[in-house]
Amino acid sequence: MIIIMKHGATREHVEELSRHIERWGVKANPIYGEGTTVIGLVGDTGAVDKDALMRDPQVENILKVQEPFKLANRKFHPDNTEVEIAPGVVVGGKKLVVMAGPCSVESEEQIIDVARHVQAEGATVLRGGAWKPRSSPYSFQGLKAEGLELLHKAHNETGLPVVTEITNPAHIDLFMDKCDCFQVGARNMQNFELLKELGATDKPILLKRGFANTMEEFLMSAEYIMAGGNENVILCERGIRTYETYTRNTLDISAVPVLKRMSHLPVVVDPSHAGGIYWMVEPLAKAAVAAGADGLMIEVHNDPAHALSDGAQSLTYDSFHETMTSLRAVALAVGREI
Ligand code: PEP
Ligand code: MN
Repeated sequence: MIIIMKHGATREHVEELSRHIERWGVKANPIYGEGTTVIGLVGDTGAVDKDALMRDPQVENILKVQEPFKLANRKFHPDNTEVEIAPGVVVGGKKLVVMAGPCSVESEEQIIDVARHVQAEGATVLRGGAWKPRSSPYSFQGLKAEGLELLHKAHNETGLPVVTEITNPAHIDLFMDKCDCFQVGARNMQNFELLKELGATDKPILLKRGFANTMEEFLMSAEYIMAGGNENVILCERGIRTYETYTRNTLDISAVPVLKRMSHLPVVVDPSHAGGIYWMVEPLAKAAVAAGADGLMIEVHNDPAHALSDGAQSLTYDSFHETMTSLRAVALAVGREI
């Protein structure tokens, strides 16, 4: 349920009303927008006396929210949410955020070299996997804690904030001061215990869409994190499984406008895992920016032919340079910048 306040409703009144509403056993979230202030009610709203609320002189209207996601719902929060990964690195504003780096951290030289190159091209977040959730137990599983240390070293060398995937809630303490943003991978989008524990942290979460999940399921996973008190969620579309086998996944470009309409959370696109092959990354990234994405996650490797994971889809330094150059033109055409 959302309560829409009249134009000019005072903050004191909204706070007082929120306290009053909470006596009915629901959580009241006042959201002070530029034009309108709304109070989002979360929980069992059965006991809320709508008629009494409508008699409040500063209440304009009361709407029932049909969707099961509340905190992630744009109706609760009409303005776009901006998630700050590090000072000056904000996802959801005019400036697009490019997160780039290898699929896996492989060595100190590799991660620092890649970090320097992607930074020089305009990436503002370094990505790199330390724990790798691979489809086969015989594939490279990541350098784990050592990989996390190396990411931290690359951060110290370049100043780039780091996003890296967490697969196990027991690792949260270990990750806490080694990364700036937790990545929840597609395979863990519905690992609810992980989501709940991440909801108790205050670090941004890049939540990737599972390859067979609907938009509503995706937003319910964001809701799990937000219900725990962490509203710094970035949604990431990374391709879904369809009947097509030519591409690794099918990039669901419609996810961008749909998620933007359903939710106030920022949306980024990962064209690397969507297409699964290097030459598809640039056109898919351009499409994502044109469709309104707030950022991109792109795999870049110093030597893709010898990468320990996802080499086929990784960009070389030269192709990342070309991609960033063409992305700047598309960003400009849609009123954004990189
Ligand atoms: C990754 O980012 O390297 C990754 C494993 O992605 P996804 O979870 O989207 O497959
Ligand atoms: Mn990968």
